[in-house]
Amino acid sequence: MLTIKRIPTLVSIYQDTVDRPGCERSCLGMCCIPGAKLPVYAFPGTSSKDHLSDSDDCIPDAGGDLFLNEVILAQWEERLSRGLFRYDVTTCETKVLPGDFGFIAQLNEGRHLKKRPTEFRVDQVLQPFDSKKFNFTKVGQEEVLFCFEMSTSEGSGYSERMVVGDSPNVVVINVSPIEYGHVLLVPKLQDCKPQRMDQESLRLAVNFAAEAKNSSFRVGYNSLGAFATINHLHFQAYYLAVPFPVERASVKKIASSKKPGGVKIFELTDYAVLGLVYESNGVLEELADCVSQACIALQDHNIPYNVLISDCGRRIFIFPQCFAEKQALGQVDPDILDTQVNPAVWEISGHIVLKRREDYESATETNAWRLLAEVSLSSERFTEVKEMCVNASLKEESASFQLELLEVEMKHFSPKVTSGKGNRIAAKGLLSDAFAEDCCA
Ligand SMILES: [Zn+2]
Repeated sequence: MLTIKRIPTLVSIYQDTVDRPGCERSCLGMCCIPGAKLPVYAFPGTSSKDHLSDSDDCIPDAGGDLFLNEVILAQWEERLSRGLFRYDVTTCETKVLPGDFGFIAQLNEGRHLKKRPTEFRVDQVLQPFDSKKFNFTKVGQEEVLFCFEMSTSEGSGYSERMVVGDSPNVVVINVSPIEYGHVLLVPKLQDCKPQRMDQESLRLAVNFAAEAKNSSFRVGYNSLGAFATINHLHFQAYYLAVPFPVERASVKKIASSKKPGGVKIFELTDYAVLGLVYESNGVLEELADCVSQACIALQDHNIPYNVLISDCGRRIFIFPQCFAEKQALGQVDPDILDTQVNPAVWEISGHIVLKRREDYESATETNAWRLLAEVSLSSERFTEVKEMCVNASLKEESASFQLELLEVEMKHFSPKVTSGKGNRIAAKGLLSDAFAEDCCA
C-alpha cells in the first residue's frame, strides 16, 4: 500500500468534530435533512440552454442574465460577514510570475495552520465511502449556500427556503478558501457517493459552470490519489479574474466526434503537464458525457487525474497524474516536497497556492514548471493513456477516430496582477476594471 503524509485542509468548520456523538445542530445528515428548508436554485432543464453558440459571450455584461453568479456571491459574502471562514482569503497576497505562461502564485499561510500531517492512501483511485470519516453529511446547514436542482420549467429560479428532497445537490462554502467565492458542489449529498466520477454528476458540474455565465468562474475535480482529501463526491469552484496558464497553452487536435454536438479533443503541446482538452460549442451534455467516459476509464484503470471545467462549461481539461505515487516511492526532489504544495487541479492549471512566505517570495516560472513536471505522466505513458481516454470518449463511434493535426494559436495575453479584490470585482462582472486598482499592489 502506497501512502503519503500531508496536512489535510479543513473544508468545513465541523471537520475537527467528526467524532462528536449525536447531533446538536442542523446538519446535512439524515438526522436533520428530512423536512429541512434550505435555499434552492433551480437551473433550466436540458432543452432550453445547452445550445450555447460561439457568439454567446460568457464574460459578464452586467446585464440581467447573471442570476446564479449573483446568488453565489451574495450568499458567499454573507457567510464571510458571519465569520464562517478560517481566514480572509481576499487579503492573501497574489502575483503573476514573470515569464511566458503567466503562472499565478498565491501566499496562503492560513490554509494549513495548526494541523498535524495525516496519512493518505494514494494507490487506490476508487475507495469505498466510509461514514466514519469526515464527509459532507456532517456539514452544518449554515455552511450551505443553496441546493442546485434542475428546474421542471424553462427558466431559472431561486427560493430562500424550500423543503428539499431526500438527497439534494448542495453547494457549500469551503471554510479554507483558495480564492474569492470558493465553494464545493456535492451531487446528491445524502447518497454518500465516494469520490468517483459518473456521468450524471459531471453533467451537473458542467451545468453549474454554464449557469454562472462568468468566465472567471471555474469548476474543478480531483480524484483520490490526485489530491482529493475527502472521499465524498464533490467538485470545487471559485473565481479568478485572469486566465489560468493552461487555458492559454497551445493545443493540437487529435480527434473529433461525428455527433451533432461536435465534441473536439485536443492535447496540450507546450505545457508542463501533459493533458487532454475537450471542447464543444454545442450541446454541453454531450461534452460532459465524452469527458465522463474518459474519467471513468481512468479511474477504472486506477490512474489518478484532475479535471478543470472552464469557459462556462465549454472547455474541459483532463490531467492524468502521478505525483503522489512518485512521492510515495521517494522519487520527488526533497526541495519540491519541502514547499508542501499539493499539485491538485488548481496548481496544475497554473494557480500555485504556496504555504510559506519564502517560497512565495522566491517563486519563479522555472520553479512552477519544475513542480508541475513532476505531476505529468511521461510522454510514453501519456500516449497510452490518451488513446484509452479518446477511445472511451468516442467508443460509440470508434470508426471515426482519427488523428488530426491542427495547431491553435496561443491567444495574446499580457499577464496582470490579480488579487482577492480583483477576483471579487471580476466576479461581480466588471472584468475590464478588475486590475486598474490592483496593478500597483
Ligand atoms: Zn443532524
